[in-house]
Amino acid sequence: MRHSGEPYLTHPIEVAKILTILKLDSPSIAAGLLHDTAEDSKISIEEISKEFGPTVAQLVDGVTNIGKIVFKTKEERQAENFRKMILSMSKDIRVILIKLADRLHNMRTLQHHTPEKQQWIAQETLDIYATLANRLGIGWIKAELEDLCLRYLRPDVYFDLGDRVEKKKDEREKYINEVIEIVKRSLAEHGFKADVQGRSKHFYSIYQKMQKQGIPFDEVYDLAGIRIIADSKFNCYGILGVIHSLWSPVPGKFKDYIGVPKSNLYQSLHTTVICLRGERVEFQIRTEEMNKIAEEGIAAHWKYKEKGQIDERDRMVFDWLRQLVEWQQDTKDSMEFLDFFKVDMFADVVYVFTPKGDIRELPKGSTPIDFAYSIHSDIGNQCVGSKINGKIVPLRYQLRSGDAVAIMTDPKHMPHRDWLKIVKTQRAKSRIKQWIKVEERRRSFEIGKNIFERELKRHNLNQNELQRHPKLAEALKQFNVPNIDELIVAIGYGKVSAHQAVNIFSPEKVVQEKEVSKKRPKSAKVGVKIKGIDDILVQFSKCCNPVPGDRIIGFITRGRGLSIHTKDCPNMDQLDYNRDRMIDVEWDVTEKQAHPVEISVLTLDKPGLLANVSSAITTSDANISHAEATTREDKKAVLDFVVDINDLEHLKKVIEKIQQVEGVLNARRVRRG
Ligand code: MN
Repeated sequence: MRHSGEPYLTHPIEVAKILTILKLDSPSIAAGLLHDTAEDSKISIEEISKEFGPTVAQLVDGVTNIGKIVFKTKEERQAENFRKMILSMSKDIRVILIKLADRLHNMRTLQHHTPEKQQWIAQETLDIYATLANRLGIGWIKAELEDLCLRYLRPDVYFDLGDRVEKKKDEREKYINEVIEIVKRSLAEHGFKADVQGRSKHFYSIYQKMQKQGIPFDEVYDLAGIRIIADSKFNCYGILGVIHSLWSPVPGKFKDYIGVPKSNLYQSLHTTVICLRGERVEFQIRTEEMNKIAEEGIAAHWKYKEKGQIDERDRMVFDWLRQLVEWQQDTKDSMEFLDFFKVDMFADVVYVFTPKGDIRELPKGSTPIDFAYSIHSDIGNQCVGSKINGKIVPLRYQLRSGDAVAIMTDPKHMPHRDWLKIVKTQRAKSRIKQWIKVEERRRSFEIGKNIFERELKRHNLNQNELQRHPKLAEALKQFNVPNIDELIVAIGYGKVSAHQAVNIFSPEKVVQEKEVSKKRPKSAKVGVKIKGIDDILVQFSKCCNPVPGDRIIGFITRGRGLSIHTKDCPNMDQLDYNRDRMIDVEWDVTEKQAHPVEISVLTLDKPGLLANVSSAITTSDANISHAEATTREDKKAVLDFVVDINDLEHLKKVIEKIQQVEGVLNARRVRRG
């Protein structure tokens, strides 16, 4: 039973009747009859689908979903978002029309509710549904909803207006009929075929006019006006000429909505003239078709078509729909986009609720992380999880219109580089990047400081001395950094080598080193003995970076002397066909010599690991000349180092140390093929 005491069935039947007036198709009318079943009975959408087909089921589902949206606020800006949310949730325009019919009948029978509930529903109807009806161009539903809303929101005004209009009615009707007769005669004289009707303003628009212009009822002159339905667009203008030749137009009151239609496709000529006995009368002149659009809106365009056969006119309707919801993006392929019934106007936005009931608009595909950043950067940075409609979801969950989103935060938590791959909004992206940049700088500073200080120590220098060092300015200039801290960061990033940097402050040692390296190829001091050959140019290959202890072999290059590879160097396969250029060599370690070795470390992606691994390397007496961290999609990170290694034993020790660091999965020497 309804509150009125009538059988509940009367409601769905009345809703279905309204849908027939809108001339909707049979699935819509069926869905109108069934619209409350999913919510108010034990019938499931699946059962409806089985009994009545998937289209009816989808429509009922759509109406049910809109019914679940809770309107918590009366603010205007929120109302617009609610309207958008409704439109975005109803992928099919018929869902909105069924919902409008539902609301219209509920408003017609609102007298059976408590005054509080009446006010609440009426306000919501005025804010959301009357506006939607207007946007969809359905003038009669808009007018009826507005009048019903006025009745419950301002009963004093409503009934007062009723009395006044009633009192003036006879007098007004008599006057209008007099005008109509004159117009009819005059149009016939000029050979125009047209239908001339009187029309009265609905209460809410009278009320709006009084409010807007701050005038009493008696000064609202156009309580009734005249509508002329012409047989062609061309004749609308001709008839306008006849009216203006009968009576003088009021300046500024002429509107050509035929030449420039309203955004809801409304077309008509409007003019106000000083009519019989000096009274102002408004004329609306339009064709039958324009009149239909003014009253029925989208429903006037309702046609059944095979998919893919969208003509210019339908295109216009959908353009209109797009416009009325302030479609902002340029759709490249409107034909593809406008699958006839499917008005996926918000293909790329979703509307979700904050815990306070506000609505946020986000691009489609947005995740809880995007939502968190849309609230506040700190909430984004500290976001550890999310609840959607009370249920915990993964952070890569894609938000859907109507979702109520709550973010769980942890002040100790930090943004993750992988987030960049799942977030959708520019805001979230730039905030995460910003954070990573700051964090990377911090880590680079740590690593750089470590490398730099070791290098300084080797040169018997310390950082404090550098601040006053005469070569400071020269060094900063050469590496294009403003101060020592930035130089350290550059070293940590691997942009500048600690060697190079310290060489500027303490060049003597460099000369010595250069001498060593010059001598290196020429004698046994290089650390390699060559059987039977003396005085030959030797270089250690860059592909396998041999260290003392490796099994090695020499390869006689053309013009670059003897190149030393490890026996298991991946390049040996290629060199193999030149066996006669191979030469046996062995280590002669009379002198400790640092050899650069590439070490690649696979770790969990946790903050601080780069610093921990770096310190494991340096505590095993190895110098890091380059360090680089790369995060992978699988929540792991790869840390690449170039480390100065004395010999194989030393290398083993370093790798062992690295593997002892918590979070390290694997460490290996890199050989390039
Ligand atoms: Mn209902």
